[in-house]
Amino acid sequence: MDFAKVILKPKKEESLQRFHPWVFSGAIQKIAGSPKEGDIVDVYTCNGEYCATGHYQIGSIAVRIFTFEKTEPGKSFWTEKLRQAYEMRRAIGLAESGDTDAYRLIHGEGDFMPGLVIDIYNKTAVMQAHSVGMHNIRQELAEGLIEVFGGKLENVYYKSESTLPFKANIDTEDGYLIGKDDKNYIATENGLKFQADWLKGQKTGFFIDQRENRALLEKYAKGRSVLNMFCYTGGFSFYALRGGAKEVHSVDSSAKAIELTKKNVELNFADCKNHEAYAVDAFKYLDDMQDRYDLIILDPPAFAKHRDVLRNALQGYKKLNAKAFEKIKPGGILFTFSCSQAVSKEQFRLAVFSAAAISGRNVKILHQLTQPADHPVSIYHPEGEYLKGLVLYVE
Ligand code: SAH
Repeated sequence: MDFAKVILKPKKEESLQRFHPWVFSGAIQKIAGSPKEGDIVDVYTCNGEYCATGHYQIGSIAVRIFTFEKTEPGKSFWTEKLRQAYEMRRAIGLAESGDTDAYRLIHGEGDFMPGLVIDIYNKTAVMQAHSVGMHNIRQELAEGLIEVFGGKLENVYYKSESTLPFKANIDTEDGYLIGKDDKNYIATENGLKFQADWLKGQKTGFFIDQRENRALLEKYAKGRSVLNMFCYTGGFSFYALRGGAKEVHSVDSSAKAIELTKKNVELNFADCKNHEAYAVDAFKYLDDMQDRYDLIILDPPAFAKHRDVLRNALQGYKKLNAKAFEKIKPGGILFTFSCSQAVSKEQFRLAVFSAAAISGRNVKILHQLTQPADHPVSIYHPEGEYLKGLVLYVE
């Protein structure tokens, strides 16, 4: 089959030769054929040499590359990619592990499948397409998953109503591509239980990307008064409780999140007496609270969803962290995060350092955190590193 040809301007193939997976619209000289959003296109240099193949889309990123070898991607091509991703998760001890059954199987560019996210919750896979190209092959992907997992997977839920590009105007409905509802399923992470609500929850139902950072927090929790700010489903809270925290307070502006947090704490620690959860705005809570906490977690939503709001986002991180530095007890530990892809590691650090300077306190960096191994970063696509965290000791 002949795909439309995207022909690049002179020298614009250089980033593709370094295996970077995006072609920007400004790099295109002309297009031979008339591809629709989501169609497969081949990319060529202006001298007619083949470079790569990817999904075409309308926008600043015009092609999202999934292979640098001339192929005709069909079902077996996609299934092989899923298999490679599964093999990696098995090799690092996540798939088929005894005490964790929630992990990310496909992390977009990090797994050379740009525009696609797949999270596994034991027997259910939750799939999110961020591109029309991936949306178009959703059924093939679902069947490929069942094949790769060989009986260990029963359901594939498709959840892309809110992730497909708005301008593409795709009328899609969330629902099961294969299997049936298992929404009351209790997932396990490092032996702790939680309810994954992929039907109504944010993202695919749980923030899997904080797994290792939660495990680190558990080690510091003993005897401390913990504030879990932006708690969502309460992940950090139940780890802190298992770690022996004196008390844990969970805060989120969403009442639904507070309900989920309470449920998850109850699942792990029935009749827990030292946990409270509050549906309040973060800034208000930090302004009103006493200086009772000696372990604070700040894991806000992405303040910068686009580059054009970067300045405001950095101000937001500075303001938020300044409040924590002001109130945290001497000898306290602050876990602070940013999940905005548009904010670099250096920019985030600078915002946190400025906040520390305002407080005038002595602050030491104990750990520099990032996303876990099931959210891999392609070495050719450093933009894929989106989660940044610092663990700070505040004297
Ligand atoms: N730490 C969580 C993930 C946080 S997601 C985990 O480990 O799973 C970000 C959360 O911030 C969402 O639940 C959202 O409801 C909450 N949020 C957004 N704006 C807020 C605000 N101004 N005050 C308090 N919570 C807020």
